[in-house]
Amino acid sequence: MAIVVVAAGRGSRVGEGTPKQYRSLAGRCVLAHGLSALRRAAPDAAILPVIHADDVTLYAEAVASLDPASRAGVLAPVVGGASRQESVRAGLEALAAGPDAAPGIVLIHDAARIFASDALIARAVRAAEVHGAAIPGVPVADTIKEIAPDQSIRATPPRAALRAVQTPQAFDFRLILDAHRRAAQSGADGLTDDAAVAEWAGRPVHVFEGDAANMKITSAEDLAAAEARLIRDLVDMRMGQGYDVHALGPGDHVWLGGIKISHDHGLVGHSDADVLSHAVTDALFGALSDGDIGSHFPPSDPQWRGADSNIFLAYAARRVRERGGMIAHVDATVVCERPKVGPHRDAIRASLARTMEISLDRVAVKATTSEKLGFTGREEGIAALAVATVRLPLAGA
Ligand code: MG
Repeated sequence: MAIVVVAAGRGSRVGEGTPKQYRSLAGRCVLAHGLSALRRAAPDAAILPVIHADDVTLYAEAVASLDPASRAGVLAPVVGGASRQESVRAGLEALAAGPDAAPGIVLIHDAARIFASDALIARAVRAAEVHGAAIPGVPVADTIKEIAPDQSIRATPPRAALRAVQTPQAFDFRLILDAHRRAAQSGADGLTDDAAVAEWAGRPVHVFEGDAANMKITSAEDLAAAEARLIRDLVDMRMGQGYDVHALGPGDHVWLGGIKISHDHGLVGHSDADVLSHAVTDALFGALSDGDIGSHFPPSDPQWRGADSNIFLAYAARRVRERGGMIAHVDATVVCERPKVGPHRDAIRASLARTMEISLDRVAVKATTSEKLGFTGREEGIAALAVATVRLPLAGA
């Protein structure tokens, strides 16, 4: 079985900027949520994403945020066409031409539906096996009117006979490939779903029971509702703490939270000695009960000599995403007499947020002196403390 995930649209209804399938929701992008839900529901399926040519980098980041089990079996993406219909056909043709035998059943699914349940996927597969072409539908709550161009009502179809249809739409692979090819050859375009392509080709399409929870993310409001639903499921709340110290030595700058700050000394260390980034990184590892910065990046390993500490922090944040979790908040404190941290606070927050791929309002940075007491007071070194709040799904949930 194969699943074609259509992710090539521009999604202009969510507003300007990043296409909706790459918008971040509860720590991961929409597409990553969708791919991992499909992998859970269909562990053996080959999953083929169809993406927009402009989104290659965004797509690579989305896949990098998946845990290894979800990533397994996700085929190299195919670039889609100008319409949904063309994009699906590109996906089907890639499966037909691929190195593996063409699948018996194919599901065609929108990237913007990230809540497809295991039961819905199972119903789709069964319906395709029985009927050859099948789509999920849900009863409509509103009365539907067909209107004329002048806004007058032309007809009121009986509501009991109406269904709002969803994806995954499920087909015998040869049937839908043949229907798409014939439609393309005949110049029949503007068919907005794959059932319409099958209907155009004269194939009967069965409607099976959909799932009202299988919402499609279309608007900015949908994004907010989807995020609320995802966060609600992240009930395993963790707090991790991190603490780090680096000695001050000769130099003309220090790195703090990914920002280079001029100073009359430098911080001494194996990497770039970014004491603040190290504390935050350890707080994340602590929240995950996942060792510490030294166990993931041993100082004995020469490849980390002079390393950019953003590498360590980005890695720890990725470990959170791989667990299906999100970083809810990070709060950090730098302890030093000099340099003054205040003027750099906003730049540091922005850098930390960017590196962890979370929003700015989830990062706090504070600074204090130690009133000239102790090693920080004598300016022998700089200390940093951090607390990270991480939300994870319940294991096995
Ligand atoms: Mg350190």
